[in-house]
Amino acid sequence: MAFFGTNGVRGIANEYITPQLAIDVARSLGTYMGSKGTVAIGRDTRASGEMLKSAAIAGALSAGLTVIDVGICPTPSVQYYVKEHSDAGIVVTASHNPREYNGIKLIAGDGSEMSREAEREIEKLYYSKEFNAASWEKTGDLRHDSNANEFYINGIINSVDHELIREKKFKVVVDTGCGAGSVTLPFLIRKLGCEVITINGQTDGTFPWRNPEPTPDVLTELADIVKKSGANMGVAQDGDADRAVFFDENGNFIEEEIQLAMMAKYVLARNKGPIVTPVSSSSRMLDVAKEADVELTWTAVGSINVARKMMEIGAVFGGEGNGGLIFPEHQYCRDGAMACAKFLEIIANGQKLSELAASVPAYFNSKTKIRIDDLPGTMEHVKKEVLEGENKVDTTDGVKIWYEDGWVLIRPSGTEPIIRIFAESKSKERADTLMNEGVDLVNRIK
Ligand code: MG
Repeated sequence: MAFFGTNGVRGIANEYITPQLAIDVARSLGTYMGSKGTVAIGRDTRASGEMLKSAAIAGALSAGLTVIDVGICPTPSVQYYVKEHSDAGIVVTASHNPREYNGIKLIAGDGSEMSREAEREIEKLYYSKEFNAASWEKTGDLRHDSNANEFYINGIINSVDHELIREKKFKVVVDTGCGAGSVTLPFLIRKLGCEVITINGQTDGTFPWRNPEPTPDVLTELADIVKKSGANMGVAQDGDADRAVFFDENGNFIEEEIQLAMMAKYVLARNKGPIVTPVSSSSRMLDVAKEADVELTWTAVGSINVARKMMEIGAVFGGEGNGGLIFPEHQYCRDGAMACAKFLEIIANGQKLSELAASVPAYFNSKTKIRIDDLPGTMEHVKKEVLEGENKVDTTDGVKIWYEDGWVLIRPSGTEPIIRIFAESKSKERADTLMNEGVDLVNRIK
């Protein structure tokens, strides 16, 4: 299995993600960069964050890089900072993973996630342990910059219709879950002229009230307060605040696939152009694209693939059906706070979130997974068999079979010996049938 997963390297802090690992990843990055340039290093609020950030700083300095310590920052805040102020970035974060986890994510000089190719080079250096060690007088300098988050917040404000939002004086309930969003999101919303009610807004690396994954079952208090306070919206973030989930003015959770499609619909009503999403996303995106008469490009799963395709084709919007939305006018990465500011802009333009959500077509999903010993071999045979069939097939990532009234996606996991089967249709029964056809196909072949 690859060292870097879909979102960097992750594991239990101080067991798998040790200070030594952080030092060696930073030394690998420094070696990859030819021991030249600056790297910004930030972290989320996890208890092990300071330990791992300090180790990463030591590794980068050892390779001869100049390090800018930006402190506790959401991942998109580090990305925004790197784009303007440094040649690369390291984020010490495990995103939405449970409390005990931590991880390391690498950022390219343009602020986007490090490409798979670059990660593979860095991974080779990591395993070879052939690091550039700067001579004593060339070990790096360490600087601190406590303005990264303010710079980021102002960047977002300038990317939305802030004057219109300020006029409306909205009320917003915010649950940042004690994660990195605690140091940015409430401040951003207040700067947009809103009244902010914050829960779990203190930074606390033990995440005392909820795990960093913002699922509706742990956000009942947020939903309650939205209802009782008559707020215009509720918003919650994951641990590193690159994703956000929303509650409408009635306190109802907006499913992430609907969130993605309604934002696409809003963007396309003002700015027609191509949009991008992974093959795992709902057909709602396709419906929205057809309605606006624009091109939709499907990519492999992973926000990096979406972001890079957006850059390549000049897309006006893109994102994943997990609350990770990408706005090119701001930056080419998932950004939960930017999504929040955009939702405020939607409401400021007179639309209720409940109405916009209801205007997006309904779909049903079914999913399961199958344990497989020979993943590549099985996938190869599945692909061969479906390509000989009559249905339209997309092999961008795994195998996606399109039917008249839905689709089934058969995809190998990147981290476990399993194949995931995911189906969608206009009725639950049909989605189940499509999923079961996928299961039968894999079982016949494996
Ligand atoms: Mg995240």
